[in-house]
Amino acid sequence: FDVYSAPVLNAKGKLKGIVLVFHDITELKKLEQVRKDFVANVSHELKTPITSLKGFAETLLDGAGENAEFRNKFLTIILNESDRLQALIQDLLDLSKSEQSFQIDAHPINLESLVNETVEILLPKAEKKEISLSVDVIGDTTMDGDPPRLKQIIINLVSNSLTYTPVGGTVSVIVEELEEHVKLVVKDTGIGIKESEIPRIFERFYRVDKARSRNSGGTGLGLAIVKHLVEAHHGTISVQSKPGEGSLFTILFPKKIEN
Ligand code: ADP
Repeated sequence: FDVYSAPVLNAKGKLKGIVLVFHDITELKKLEQVRKDFVANVSHELKTPITSLKGFAETLLDGAGENAEFRNKFLTIILNESDRLQALIQDLLDLSKSEQSFQIDAHPINLESLVNETVEILLPKAEKKEISLSVDVIGDTTMDGDPPRLKQIIINLVSNSLTYTPVGGTVSVIVEELEEHVKLVVKDTGIGIKESEIPRIFERFYRVDKARSRNSGGTGLGLAIVKHLVEAHHGTISVQSKPGEGSLFTILFPKKIEN
């Protein structure tokens, strides 16, 4: 509690009493802690790839660059780390945009067409891992939405499924018209998520397996962005998952967003 006190005087300036004001600052303290953790996390996440970029560049300058095999190996690492840094910065920008603007530019769109367009971008990633990636549509999936934001939701969920599903698995996207909602399901036969981890995966920077996620280019921000964008569409997101069997992400979007 934050306490503020002030004396109450009568007309002659004599003390009549004291006013005490109590402010519950638990919530404020929590927010402050979240902000501090976030800054610490961002700094750590940015420093790690930069340290490795510097290290490999220095090693190359120190003479390792004369050997063609080492040169290729180290330059490849530098390129991969730069890609990861670029992805991280993009995710941070997307996160900050999605957190700032709860205003979306929503108008009637067809989710089916958006899903098809977006999944096409991810087909090469699926083919590389021999994962069968399919889209099923049930009914008329017209709804109020902001196309670039919806695309980002689909990309983040489907690319997670492709990342966390072993070679030869299956990823399915289902769009379905319900009475008042349009449902978007992304389902995979991947590694799954433990029940105790499920509530945490939407937190910024939370990764179940840091090493695996980082190696696959993960930043731990994808689902935090998804959650914000779904909420900006007045929708809800839920997850069902079993380790070793797979995961199922379900989003319900209202067909009409009241302004
Ligand atoms: P990342 O960039 O690490 O993938 P996300 O915010 O997208 O970050 O996801 C957070 C964590 O949730 C991931 O690190 C992973 O552990 C887990 N996760 C997300 N999607 C899936 C999935 N489809 N299958 C298994 N685990 C998942």
